Amino acid sequence: MKQFYVEPGKKVDLNEWKTDSTPDFEGKKADAAPEIEKLNAKLESLQELLYAEGKHKLLIILQGMDAAGKDGVIRHVFDGVNPQGVKVASFKVPTPEELSHDYLWRIHKYTPAKGEIVIFNRSQYEDVLAVRVLKLVPDNVWKKRFDHINAFERMLADEGTTILKFFLHVNKDEQRERLLERVDDPAKRWKFNPGDLDTRAQWDEYQKAYEAVLEKTSRQWAPWYVIPSDKKWYRNLAISRIMVATLEKLKMKYPQPAEDIEKYRTELVG
Ligand code: AMP
Ligand code: MG
Repeated sequence: MKQFYVEPGKKVDLNEWKTDSTPDFEGKKADAAPEIEKLNAKLESLQELLYAEGKHKLLIILQGMDAAGKDGVIRHVFDGVNPQGVKVASFKVPTPEELSHDYLWRIHKYTPAKGEIVIFNRSQYEDVLAVRVLKLVPDNVWKKRFDHINAFERMLADEGTTILKFFLHVNKDEQRERLLERVDDPAKRWKFNPGDLDTRAQWDEYQKAYEAVLEKTSRQWAPWYVIPSDKKWYRNLAISRIMVATLEKLKMKYPQPAEDIEKYRTELVG
């Protein structure tokens, strides 16, 4: 999935990154189902192995505009994975207590422990995205944060965390369709937030802020992937592929069983 990988330090122009392509896939949505199912089963057993081995930590960071599909990824990609050992942390507008600390304070306590997978639904990156676009702090404050975030993620990686960061890239028209669905479909109305229209009105500013994030914070040990996300099924497929390939590379092993485990059979059988 090299085509989605953001080369560290490389300039990023999001207009050049497709939102509706389906690289390494021939066919339509229905044709993807068998592969998605297979990847899902693999993820399920890799997660069990990660938990059993209790050595590695996996941090997944999801970012994207409203309705880009962050919740959908969590629901579909992790479908069937044992909830024991997987946690989701959603980062909203900071509370007064969170704001009275440094911006990484609320983040750090949700990073994964050994054997855990943690999914960040939004993250520390909001502190150089929303905070930048909404001008919540002066420029000289947020500009320093790229270095802090790189150092923070480097520390997590050095201490045994595998980090994957996904930017769900959607077209502005596709976002309109999805927001319209939230207005029109009674079952989706709860998701509609009038504030999303203000964010949409600042689309270009957000794209620019995302470009800076991708350029300045993609690292070999904490790579960004730009995922074409107009097609929900392809978005799920691409993320599943990257996650499974990354977990397989960890060469995990089940821990050694109890010594002379066979003798317990006699004990149990009597
Ligand atoms: P949602 O993910 O749709 O529930 O919305 C959460 C909202 O919280 C989004 O509009 C984010 O931009 C906003 N948010 C998250 N973190 C921060 C932050 N550190 N500063 C300001 N706004 C934030
Ligand atoms: Mg939202």
